[in-house]
Amino acid sequence: MTKLIVATSNPGKLREMQAYLTDSPWELALKPAELDVDETGNTFAANACLKASEVAIALNCWTIADDSGLQVDALNGAPGIYSARYANTDKERIDRMLLELGDFPAPAQRQAQFVCAVAVARPDGTIAAQAEGICRGEILTTVRGVDGFGYDPIFYVPAKQLAFAEMSVETKRSISHRGIAFAIIRQKLAEIAAE
Ligand code: IMP
Repeated sequence: MTKLIVATSNPGKLREMQAYLTDSPWELALKPAELDVDETGNTFAANACLKASEVAIALNCWTIADDSGLQVDALNGAPGIYSARYANTDKERIDRMLLELGDFPAPAQRQAQFVCAVAVARPDGTIAAQAEGICRGEILTTVRGVDGFGYDPIFYVPAKQLAFAEMSVETKRSISHRGIAFAIIRQKLAEIAAE
């Protein structure tokens, strides 16, 4: 098994990636906490590639990284790559979003999407595989559901008639931006391992 470093300091994200990549021919490992990469890219894909490349070079190991966020149509795609920095806590991020969209009627002017970009870098830092997943939905006017994390309680998916925070892990995974991106990258990682 070849080692695949997960370029995140977040053990929760490592667990999520492990779940997406179970039975894959790669042995996942968390990057050292002190090795930090600034997200200076202008797109989700650029940030994912940047994180994967820099950690790969520093550790001389295959590395996987992702970057994700929420784009709201009425806010011209904001908060986008700044989704994590939109406020300090999940609750504050949700409160700010509900306030900013206060006057926007549902559902027409509350359309939004989650995006997740994933990149895999070789030990020399070159990018071996990339994938992107998008999940369209609507920003609710009040919170719904208790599961998930981040903006899940205000992100509603009409096709399922549920907010992300009301979905089982399996349902969210089957339609979410991250689930879609990781289904693609899982296939590509299997091909790379077979080379
Ligand atoms: P990052 O990918 O760790 O930089 O996270 C980006 C931001 O988007 C964080 O604030 C997350 O809470 C948010 N985010 C990304 N994916 C999801 C999701 O599936 N549900 C809710 N929030 C998410």
